[in-house]
Amino acid sequence: MSVEPTTCRLCGADGPDGAGAAAVAGWVTERDDAGRDRRFCPPCARRHLRAIESRLDTEWW
Ligand SMILES: [Zn+2]
Repeated sequence: MSVEPTTCRLCGADGPDGAGAAAVAGWVTERDDAGRDRRFCPPCARRHLRAIESRLDTEWW
């Protein structure tokens, strides 16, 4: 399994490589309806927690 770079979908911040390390650091990974991973840094995840949980597309945030 390859290690994916972690970049915040909203602000473009770089995070730890790999979903596991990112999750430990507080990053949120969401899978959208198209099967793509969306990653958010801790500040963006907090700010948009409700939108992420309700699986809104980012167009609606
Ligand atoms: Zn961010």
